[in-house]
Amino acid sequence: MFPFVVLAHDPASRARRGALTTPHGPIETPVFMDVGTRASVTNCAPADLATIGTQVVLGNTYHLMLRPGPEVFRKLGGIHTFMGWPGPVLTDSGGFQIFSLPEHRTVTEEGARFKGYTDQQMHLLSPERSIEVQTAIGSDIMMVLDECVDSTSDEPTMHAAMDRTHRWALRSLAARKNTQQALFAIVQGGVVPSLRQQSAAFLTEHPFDGFAIGGLAVGDTRKEREDVTALSAELLPAGRPRYLMGVGTPPDLLRAILAGVDMFDCILPTSLAWQGIAFTSTGRVRLTRSANVLREDTLDAACACSTCVTFSRAYLHHLFKCREPLGPRLVTLHNLHYYHELMAHSRRAIEAGAFAAFAKEQLSRIDRHEHGLPC
Ligand SMILES: [Zn+2]
Repeated sequence: MFPFVVLAHDPASRARRGALTTPHGPIETPVFMDVGTRASVTNCAPADLATIGTQVVLGNTYHLMLRPGPEVFRKLGGIHTFMGWPGPVLTDSGGFQIFSLPEHRTVTEEGARFKGYTDQQMHLLSPERSIEVQTAIGSDIMMVLDECVDSTSDEPTMHAAMDRTHRWALRSLAARKNTQQALFAIVQGGVVPSLRQQSAAFLTEHPFDGFAIGGLAVGDTRKEREDVTALSAELLPAGRPRYLMGVGTPPDLLRAILAGVDMFDCILPTSLAWQGIAFTSTGRVRLTRSANVLREDTLDAACACSTCVTFSRAYLHHLFKCREPLGPRLVTLHNLHYYHELMAHSRRAIEAGAFAAFAKEQLSRIDRHEHGLPC
């Protein structure tokens, strides 16, 4: 089992500062993990990641089993060598991607059969197959295959998916051969508190290296998401890392840290960069707006990333207007740097016993931008 130590607790919340040791280095928590679905953090080379504070890259089993395929990883020595990233890698199992393909897949007790978008052939993603592919990829942290359902599903549907997720979790545990790769289970149960309690109680009876909170940000409201996160985090063992999957905005992360979550991933900082939307210390900024045409100032005066040190808002606006690929790249670097700095500040605030006050102050400056107001 991977060593995980809690180094400090915040006295006014459930926030905690920890460290997880992996074969490719330590992970200081709370941590934001960069989404690198296809063994690439879009627009960023590994040397860039080293400068912006990235600790973990998150690959995806569903995409990587289709292309390049597990045989490439077996022959070339795993994902770290393949993509030139020496640090820790976590692989998602592919459950969420299967859930996102309702018209092209069937899910049975065996696993999910789906048509591959690269070859139009039918593929089986079972718990055993997911572990086999993740073993070939060579990630430091593997995830069990889970059955995701929409948060608006009825309770019997959520209950059935949760029970199947539990059976699949045990099959994943039995299929794991390499104990140098950690395996995290995923708590399911939609937005029904009693199901979340059952799920956490069942999974924590088994020797998983960590526990994730899954099945959120799929149709649930923000209030439901926060309530389920707080409830689930409280039910998970203190001595194991807690990972909130696929969530979210900077305020989402701050609130989840307050609830005791350690690990995060989300596509927002990279996906919104394509649209010229930046996360800053004062909230979101939309660089495509004409108000930026003559702005000599930087994107975020409080940011020390290479984008903010070097370029004006006017230049970034120009790049987006011309559809120059440099625009999304520079904003991606800034956005990821912003997320990593937010986590680094959070870690220091927890160590100082002042996280609740830090989170409140941050939320007062950035939260208003997350409620549909213009950037
Ligand atoms: Zn910046």
